[in-house]
Amino acid sequence: EPLVLDVSGLTVEYRDAVRTVRAVTGLSLSVARGRTVALIGESGSGKTTAALAILGMLPGSATVLSGSVAVTPAGRRLDLLRLPRRELRALRWQHIAYVPQGSISSLNPIQRIGRHFQQTAEAHALGRRAAEARAMELLAAVHLEPRRIWTSYPHELSGGTRQRVAIALAMLLEPEVIVLDEPTTALDVLTQEAVLTTLLELQAATGVSYLAITHDLSVAGAVADEVITMYAGRAVERGTAEQVLADPLHPYTAGLLRSTPSVDSDLPVQSIGGHPPSLSDLPPGCSFHPRCGLADERCRSGGPPALLPADSRTVACHRVSERVAAGGPG
Ligand code: SF4
Repeated sequence: EPLVLDVSGLTVEYRDAVRTVRAVTGLSLSVARGRTVALIGESGSGKTTAALAILGMLPGSATVLSGSVAVTPAGRRLDLLRLPRRELRALRWQHIAYVPQGSISSLNPIQRIGRHFQQTAEAHALGRRAAEARAMELLAAVHLEPRRIWTSYPHELSGGTRQRVAIALAMLLEPEVIVLDEPTTALDVLTQEAVLTTLLELQAATGVSYLAITHDLSVAGAVADEVITMYAGRAVERGTAEQVLADPLHPYTAGLLRSTPSVDSDLPVQSIGGHPPSLSDLPPGCSFHPRCGLADERCRSGGPPALLPADSRTVACHRVSERVAAGGPG
């Protein structure tokens, strides 16, 4: 399938009067049509900064130091980091849309849902009637009652319904790719499953692609084709969802997996000890070494290990070859 999103070497820094923090270093990823890539990691791993940079929505204190972000609708290449702000705003809904974390904050509480659709349409020269007709279809496609929802205020709707509205809104201008930031946070388990199923149905029906940002490995397992683990601003493991989630090779991915409750495993949930490092004061060597049970001398000095091919995926870990030889996670 052709690529719809192509990110290469993305590096982002935050600066204030006292310090500079590199939140994302050299991130590359691509998403093909109709596919889903999940960025996983704890908070502070850089995944949200990466998403905001890709959407052109970084706060003023952040700078993209290097790299490129391109959406590639129908073979054209639109380099989002080089476009003027106004053009970027237009592209944001047409080619790349966003379902922010916690949909209540993304919906204006004093506007009925219909108005949200109309405003998005107006900003992109989609006529009122066409917008309304399309919104009705989309609301039905996400399993809501279109007429009732159209005239409701956000606070009248449940969390799951608001999330469905946010998804329908993101689909309004038929973007190639939608960035989903923690798509099921704050929803109960059954509602989470229903929302994820709806996302998959929409993908099957329209060929839309998703970039999902999540700390929840069960979300990644449910929707992703490819998974990228991020730690301290870097991609540390990348491969198919089956490889990375069933048989992780990076000790951090393995730790995330062990700390996730699973329905098909009786293994006790075991949290990763320690905390993610402060990005303004990263440990030398592999950033994960203070928390890694396998750390040796090589891991504690020099620079971070490079992301290299290992067992049909890529992993940034000095000890990966021993782990491949040992047949999987340790
Ligand atoms: Fe652990 Fe060393 Fe691998 Fe880092 S490089 S994950 S410290 S074994």
